[in-house]
Amino acid sequence: MDLLHTSTELKQKIQTFKSANQTIGFVPTMGALHHGHLSLVKQAKEKCDVVVVSIYVNPTQFNQASDLEKYPRTIEADAKLLAGYCDVIFNPIDNKEVYGEEIVLKEYDFEGLDSALEGAFRPGHFKGMANVVSQLFRLVEPTHAFFGLKDYQQYVLVKKMVEIDGFDIEIVGCSIIREESGLAMSSRNMRLTENGKKGAAVIHYAMNYCKQFYSYYSVEELKTRAVYMIDGILDVEYLEFRDAQTLQEINAFKKGQTIFLSFAGFIDEVRLIDNIRFEVI
Ligand code: AMP
Repeated sequence: MDLLHTSTELKQKIQTFKSANQTIGFVPTMGALHHGHLSLVKQAKEKCDVVVVSIYVNPTQFNQASDLEKYPRTIEADAKLLAGYCDVIFNPIDNKEVYGEEIVLKEYDFEGLDSALEGAFRPGHFKGMANVVSQLFRLVEPTHAFFGLKDYQQYVLVKKMVEIDGFDIEIVGCSIIREESGLAMSSRNMRLTENGKKGAAVIHYAMNYCKQFYSYYSVEELKTRAVYMIDGILDVEYLEFRDAQTLQEINAFKKGQTIFLSFAGFIDEVRLIDNIRFEVI
């Protein structure tokens, strides 16, 4: 496994893969890796000849300086976790290695898919995310790229960005990996207290309740119930039922429709997100 810090080294390595006609699986991350990330890497290894993982805390997708500052950075432990599972770690020494001399961000027209949910609460987040993923795709030139469905809206937008920028890359969505309690694994969980970690398990509990019992209630009633379960343990930022394809709001559960229930909230001053998708039968 190579740990590379510059785009020049990375490009050289990619050329050796390309000239050997190898398929390249790419997993972009911001580090502080856990078994959720590792599951993406393992899926990449199964599907592709070689696997590249980037570890880069991208400044352009943070809308709060304090969040960027507090984001955990654990490169040594990350490299240990990845040993044996990936071929190259790209951990750029600075922003120039990703963006060039100057950070210039492209405006994407995501046709409204970026305006709701995370887009509404984290202005500029998806613009930064799409730009960094696009830059990394140009450097890594993957045949496949793996994204967690924990960030479902991100997954939808990456597919759209690939279409807009004309990349020939297969985007693979990977299931959410959870703690035994049901809490979705996240780098941010490191910042939770033991009580916070226990309490945050209510997110999945409430969302799973919605998946089980949607047929008994209206959308509004179910939302009220779920928020009631979570509120008091976490500060709910949003909990919304959307159409999984269009991300449009829904006001009724229609047969055959896939529902995307999305959550964001705070506990121990840490912002957590999670979601669940289910088909109305
Ligand atoms: P991040 O380092 O948070 O930017 O995440 C890098 C990738 O790992 C993204 O595609 C995430 O969706 C994915 N990911 C993070 N946590 C999980 C999880 N618990 N299960 C599955 N994928 C995850």
